Amino acid sequence: MSKIKIAELFYSIQGEGRYMGVPSVFLRTFGCNFKCSGFGMPRGELSTEAEDIAEVVHMFSKYEELPLVSTGCDSYASWHPSFKDLSPMLTSDAIVDRIMEIIPFNEWRDEHLVITGGEPLLGWQRAYPDLLEHDKMKGLKEITFETNGTQKLTEEFKSYLNMWAGRTDREITFSVSAKLPCSGEKWEDAIKPEIVCEYEEVGTAYLKFVIATEQDFADAECAIAAYRKAGFKGHVYLMPVGGVESVYALNNRNVADLAMKNGLRYSDRLQVPLFKNEWGT
Ligand code: SF4
Repeated sequence: MSKIKIAELFYSIQGEGRYMGVPSVFLRTFGCNFKCSGFGMPRGELSTEAEDIAEVVHMFSKYEELPLVSTGCDSYASWHPSFKDLSPMLTSDAIVDRIMEIIPFNEWRDEHLVITGGEPLLGWQRAYPDLLEHDKMKGLKEITFETNGTQKLTEEFKSYLNMWAGRTDREITFSVSAKLPCSGEKWEDAIKPEIVCEYEEVGTAYLKFVIATEQDFADAECAIAAYRKAGFKGHVYLMPVGGVESVYALNNRNVADLAMKNGLRYSDRLQVPLFKNEWGT
């Protein structure tokens, strides 16, 4: 039976993108190919918040006890090696049992599954079919992979997803949060149009850019042009930076205005005003 290293598994409302407001199970896998230490920092500077917490990791026995950060990746504990022991390796059976415990009627109804990270397409593609073919997962109709858009689908996984989505009323979405320079990641590592175009062969894909400044928007425009040139057809969302309310509230209105002015979609981060972006929300 397949196993997946799980950073978090919780039930909440999807706060971002196409399924905003939909009751959702979030399966957060461990591991990412990026660090995104530039978020919320002056351009060119990198956050040390995750590293600072890593130095005192012995003070925390549970994932939920870890401090929230206002700069860098707000999911730092889902990839930083210092926190790996807080993320158990679970079998498909154990994951499904936990899902059945946390959804309202102990079976899939209108809930949607969000497979997120970290980067959920990094190492776990081979493990998902076992999980999704479990008897108790048959009622699931909608899955979103929240990805940074840098990981190619394996041929086996692509075939599997096409088969899964081919059954009646099922839909797969790739919410691609492509990382702009404000993340601290290099353009050539982060902007991979051919890979994202491939996701469109399997399901609905859209791009979601995290924006804080006019410069970020200028970068987003360059990235959008590159994706369109490669043949990407999906929608584009702008989303304000801000894993904590003080940062989010500084620029959500500006980003909404930018989206409107440019005929793009705006994505909120409902988990920030609703739940203060606490772990498990
Ligand atoms: S890609 Fe996502 S999970 Fe990975 S470091 Fe960046 S923000 Fe965090």
